[in-house]
Amino acid sequence: MAGTSDIEPTTGYKQPLPHRTSSLCPECKRKIDALVYAEGDIVWMKKECPEHGEFREKYWESVKMYERERRHGAVGVPTLNPNVDTNGLNCPFDCGLCTRHKSHTALANIVATNRCDLSCWYCFFYAKEGQPIYEPSLEQIRAMVRNLRQEKPVPCNAVQITGGEPTLRKDLIDIIRICKEEGIDHVQVNTDGINFAFNPDLVRRIREAGTNTVYMSFDGMTPKSNPKNHWEAPYAIENCRKVGMGIVLVPTVIKGINDGEVGQMINFALNHNDVIRGVNFQPVSLVGRMPQKQREQQRITIPKIIENIEEQTNGMVTKEDFYSVQ
Ligand code: SF4
Repeated sequence: MAGTSDIEPTTGYKQPLPHRTSSLCPECKRKIDALVYAEGDIVWMKKECPEHGEFREKYWESVKMYERERRHGAVGVPTLNPNVDTNGLNCPFDCGLCTRHKSHTALANIVATNRCDLSCWYCFFYAKEGQPIYEPSLEQIRAMVRNLRQEKPVPCNAVQITGGEPTLRKDLIDIIRICKEEGIDHVQVNTDGINFAFNPDLVRRIREAGTNTVYMSFDGMTPKSNPKNHWEAPYAIENCRKVGMGIVLVPTVIKGINDGEVGQMINFALNHNDVIRGVNFQPVSLVGRMPQKQREQQRITIPKIIENIEEQTNGMVTKEDFYSVQ
């Protein structure tokens, strides 16, 4: 077991296998020891909570790729004035930017709301009926952005306004303006694209307020694989095209649902490359008390998606085209 192994814990990133690290108990969220090790061509993580027992998860679906990526492991530039000074003692319950963070803020996520106009079955975030609404005020958002701008030695200069669905906020334009007024260079709006499809005037105002990029959900090529916005996405793309606003497509990849369409999604983006700047594949985040069997059926890791991309683009994009960033 991880707790009884004689392998020394490491604090760095991408250490030689096997190595010990820290993780969270998926049940009670307490921080526990974990062991990262290879078995066959898979990198696994095994951990044991004193209260909830043992857990084992796929960590990297390719030992070869793990070993290759280790060479990109590097210590980042940390923030010297973090806003939480407990040194992670109560991690993850006092979470913030603490001294244990190894790199500065590259892209800050500001959650404008947890309301959404969709209710995707795999979402871990939107407020279901009767649940509390989280919506920071404009003053609170300005304070957040000021906090980001005074980080040392690297002030944050890129913000994503996210949710929920941020276009449900009537004052979204004010939020974008606040980011720009406080000196943020890059502002992107994360959206499911529904309001972008039906409200071209909103798209124009979002652009004119200073938004650089739209980070738009796009989960597949059919209504079945992309129930979020299969019918609306073309209109949202057209409305962004009209105002010269770049789009990054964001597929949430789920094994057995849309992992066979990654090549087609790249092709779709290429066919609209006057306005689509990239595709950011995100493996689904399986959280909560999902039965182990269902988790195994749907979990996919980034190395597996990269393999799928090579296969499904017939080698136009290869595994070697990717490398990790810190
Ligand atoms: S669109 Fe996004 S935030 Fe809304 S329910 Fe779906 S996954 Fe959740």
